[in-house]
Amino acid sequence: MRRFFAENMELAGDTVVLTGDEARHVSAVLRMQAGDRVLLIDGAGTECEAEIVSSKEDRVELRVTARREGQAEPETKVTLFQCLPKQGKMEVVIQKCVELGVHAVVPAVSRRCVVKPSGNDNKLTRWNKVSQEAAKQCGRAFVPEVMRPVSLDKIDLSGYGLVLLAYENESERSLKQALRERPGVSDIAIIIGPEGGFEPAEAEDIVKKGGVTVSLGKRILRTETAGMAMLAQIMYETES
Ligand code: SAH
Repeated sequence: MRRFFAENMELAGDTVVLTGDEARHVSAVLRMQAGDRVLLIDGAGTECEAEIVSSKEDRVELRVTARREGQAEPETKVTLFQCLPKQGKMEVVIQKCVELGVHAVVPAVSRRCVVKPSGNDNKLTRWNKVSQEAAKQCGRAFVPEVMRPVSLDKIDLSGYGLVLLAYENESERSLKQALRERPGVSDIAIIIGPEGGFEPAEAEDIVKKGGVTVSLGKRILRTETAGMAMLAQIMYETES
């Protein structure tokens, strides 16, 4: 069944109205009509089966026929702190990590970041749209939020059962080891450096705040590869 995003979907009511892009997609692009059935997701974890009642270009009305919690969420919530990569790569990181089950993405600015956050919200809006599209495509009813960029030395690491810093200079502790030392942990933060890597003082600072440095293996991965690789391995280790 086709999936559509219904922001602010009334959790109590059985009528949902789509407007804007989603309405246009249903009516003008896909030419769906009254009686056709779709799946609606609210972005917060709920999905509904619904039947189209009326379909106009700017307004599609649907009747909810079944409502349930989305089934595609991992048990372990992983938040990705991604140091800003160069042009365009952040969108790829967000798309792939959402598919792989990330819970939230926090763009971070570290000393060796070449790109600085622009200060306007266009990019943030675009990144959240990428997250929404990826969630829809991969069957999630929860849309991971992409937060406003923060400085690496100011990130809030409280509230995570495990903070893992992917560190290219770590040769002893593997990701597998770090995860096996903390079985059953429900909230994990993972931190990925930019193209130029972390300065040693940055890694030390995260360790002082309770973080653990881990190696992702013998090869140096590109910054945009590291988050996806780490997430896939965490899911492999923790998914039941
Ligand atoms: N320029 C650096 C590499 C940076 S790779 C160098 O040549 O040493 C970008 C980021 O990806 C790193 O900061 C780290 O967070 C992650 N990363 C890449 N490969 C890794 C590995 N083998 N182990 C741990 N982290 C890795």
